[in-house]
Amino acid sequence: MSRALPMQPQNCGPWELKERLGTGGFGNVTRWQNKDTSEQIAVKQCRQELSSKNKERWCLEIQIMKRLNHVNVVAAREVPEELQRLATNDLPLLAMEYCQGGDLRKYLNLLENCCGMREGSILILLRDISSALTYLHKKRIIHRDLKPENIVLQQGEKRLIHKIIDLGYAKELDQSSLCTSFVGTLQYLAPELLEQQKYTVTVDYWSFGTLVFECITGFRPFLPTWQPVPWHNKLKQKHEDDIVVYEDLTGEVHFSKHLPQPHNLNKLLAGSLECWLQLMLRWSPQERGKDTNGSSSCFEQLERILELKLVHVLNMTSAEICTYSVQPGETVASLQERIAQDTHIPPANQELLLEAGLALEPHNDVMQCAVDYTMVDGRRADVPLVFLFDRSCCNYEPQFSPRILPENIRFTEPKRMLPYSSQRRTCGQAWHTIRALKEDWQKLQQGQKAAIMSLLRHNGSLSKQKNEMVSVHQRLKATLEFFTTSLHIDMDKYQEQRATGIDRGCDYAGGGDDETAD
Ligand code: ATP
Ligand code: MG
Repeated sequence: MSRALPMQPQNCGPWELKERLGTGGFGNVTRWQNKDTSEQIAVKQCRQELSSKNKERWCLEIQIMKRLNHVNVVAAREVPEELQRLATNDLPLLAMEYCQGGDLRKYLNLLENCCGMREGSILILLRDISSALTYLHKKRIIHRDLKPENIVLQQGEKRLIHKIIDLGYAKELDQSSLCTSFVGTLQYLAPELLEQQKYTVTVDYWSFGTLVFECITGFRPFLPTWQPVPWHNKLKQKHEDDIVVYEDLTGEVHFSKHLPQPHNLNKLLAGSLECWLQLMLRWSPQERGKDTNGSSSCFEQLERILELKLVHVLNMTSAEICTYSVQPGETVASLQERIAQDTHIPPANQELLLEAGLALEPHNDVMQCAVDYTMVDGRRADVPLVFLFDRSCCNYEPQFSPRILPENIRFTEPKRMLPYSSQRRTCGQAWHTIRALKEDWQKLQQGQKAAIMSLLRHNGSLSKQKNEMVSVHQRLKATLEFFTTSLHIDMDKYQEQRATGIDRGCDYAGGGDDETAD
């Protein structure tokens, strides 16, 4: 693992040596800062004792790097004049943009990623690395050493950006597109490279698949602690669709076509990425990356997965989350039909609430609640949810957690001493399970908050209606009183007049017209 180390102060003109970023087979990578401009660069410097073949490889890396221009491939910089004197053996230095986020290995080693990265982070990584690989392959360059140590992170304006580094083993394809030299790091290395057979771009598919599997689950897919020879013999037995070969706690080896729990992906994405990994981790280099039609389509398939617009619905009656892929123009009513199939709650009884307690109406566009993963902060746990309530149900106490406990946690022999790697994994799973349960409860709490907000909103509008009714009522009452009073006055007047008329009638019988009260 590469680790940033503090260094003795060293200056070359305005450039100040800040830290060692990594030491590898070829040389050291250090961070330098310009005192005047604050500009920072990473400088890769060759170690002295290189064979002539490796010297050639070193120069090739620099040559390739200088020709590349892609946001997901680290950019080469001009080596500052003042730093030129660091070059040894006439081997040129490689200056690069400095990526302050460290490498992906450092990120994977965080406790929070022990059972895989968050969904948002995985999707961003997939987008960035597939884009970089497509670019390199179009330029007819195979990376051959893709692994977490060779991906660095940089904070962009909106989100983290992943960049591929270390093209020290990259190879430009010759005319026949097949190469035979053996290079790379064993755990991510395609089998044909181990066998020293001819290979092509599909070696990068294998490494990419291995890397993505590790980002999803927190461990490498194929017997990560085994030595190369038994590893190779065992792996040869894998079925073409198997994406994981692992030892259980009793030491028995299992093969599986499915992503093992626990991980942080929703069911829909987990299913799609499972199929994609089945293509990327094919043993046969000719079959790898191709779907059943035989067209080379792994990047197109990934593109389709990354374009999915997803709505996550938390069923508050069962505590389960259902995820739906939605299309532009689709209405909430159509989503409700799909929800009814999964939950058996008929659309008329479904109350769908957004986080702030706003209710979704059947005629609404469903896209308003779809998650835009390009905007989600990949490290955050809480993707936006829609909360589903059943209007016909009064009891909202799910009887059990729908979460299935990981295999190691269900292991029922507490006194058995496990090997270190299994202990580590079991601890990680226990930590992850507790965090997941805590987050499940937080989501249910969020749903209850949404329900309270919705009730408060209803209450608010009812109070407003009540106030309006009271004021209308008071106005009507006042009008009525006014009427009654004036009617009484009129009646009194009328009676008075009648009385006067009668009197007059008595005085002057038959004389005078009747006066009508207004
Ligand atoms: P090689 O495999 O050619 O012997 P290496 O593995 O030592 O080389 P790199 O992979 O290029 O060399 O770099 C080693 C480590 O230095 C990386 O894993 C990463 O942590 C760090 N690093 C390299 N380049 C950068 C950069 N541009 N920005 C930040 N960190 C970097
Ligand atoms: Mg490296």
